[in-house]
Amino acid sequence: MPDNPLLTAALAHAARGWHVFPLRPDDKRPAFPDHAGDDCNGRDPRCRAAGHHLGWEPRATCDPDRIRRAWTARPYGIGLACGPSRLVVVDLDRPKDDTTGPTGLDTLADLAATHAAPVEPTYTVTTGRGGTHLYYRHPDDGPELRNTAGTLGPLVDTRAHGGYVVAAGSTVSGRPYRVDLDTDPAPLPGWLAARLAPAPLPPQRPVVVSLPTDRSGAYVRAAISREADRVTTAPAGERNRALYVAAVALGQLTAGGSLTAEDAKSVLEQAAARAGLGHVETARTIRSGLAAGSKRPRQVAA
Ligand SMILES: [Zn+2]
Repeated sequence: MPDNPLLTAALAHAARGWHVFPLRPDDKRPAFPDHAGDDCNGRDPRCRAAGHHLGWEPRATCDPDRIRRAWTARPYGIGLACGPSRLVVVDLDRPKDDTTGPTGLDTLADLAATHAAPVEPTYTVTTGRGGTHLYYRHPDDGPELRNTAGTLGPLVDTRAHGGYVVAAGSTVSGRPYRVDLDTDPAPLPGWLAARLAPAPLPPQRPVVVSLPTDRSGAYVRAAISREADRVTTAPAGERNRALYVAAVALGQLTAGGSLTAEDAKSVLEQAAARAGLGHVETARTIRSGLAAGSKRPRQVAA
C-alpha cells in the first residue's frame, strides 16, 4: 500500500471511536456536503438517499471502508465530529501575532485554579496556528453539551455536539496539526461540565394563540401541537430540518389566514428552544420555512 499519512491518521482516529469526515484538502471547511441546507436540491447522492439534507455531522463515520474510499481518492483534511465521537474539545487560541496578553491556555489555567482543580493531562493537539486542542470525554449524564465561543473566557472556545475540529494529521494552509500528548481523553472535569451546560430552558410559558372556538380553531390548534412535537421529538442532527418542515406547514396556515405570522413564529421559536437549537440557525430556518409555506396558502374551513 502506498504511503498515505492522511488515510493512516484518519483510520487511527476512527479506531478510537472518533467519527471523521473529509475536509477540503489543506483547508478547515468540510468537503461534503458542498451546499448549505437551504440550498439543498436533493441531487447530492447522500441527501437523496436520506430523503433530506444531510450535513457533515451525520456523514461522519468510523467505518474503515468508507474512510479508505474517501482518503484514497484525495488528500482530504480530517474533520472530527465531536458530538458522535462523545468528545468535548477545548480550543485554546493565542492572541493574534501583533498583540500580547494571556493565551487561552493561561485563561483556562486561571479558571482551573479558581476551582482548585489542576488541568490534568489529556489527549492534546497543537493546531496549525500554534493553538491547543484539549480532548475530553463528554459526560455520560447531564445535558448534551454544544459549542461555546468565549463562554469560559477570551480565546477559549469549546466544540461538542454540532461542532468539529481539524484532527491531527491534517494541514491547514500548509501548517500541520500535531498530536502533542497521545493518551486517552480524560473525562471532562466536573467544574468545566457545569460551566458549559446550556442555560436552563426558559420557563414553560405556553405561547397563547388566540383561535376561534369552533372546529377550525380546534383544527389549527391540533396542527400547531403536531408541528411543535415534530421539532421537539426529532433526533439530534434532524432537528433543524424538522423545524423547517414545521415552519412550512404553519406558514401555509398563516397565508390561509388561520394563524397570525407572529403566533406561528412564537410557536416555532419555543419548540426550537425546547429542542436545543441555536438562535441564529433557528431564526434563519423559521424565516425560510414560513416564506416557503406562505406561497402555498392553506385555508381551514370553519
Ligand atoms: Zn443536501
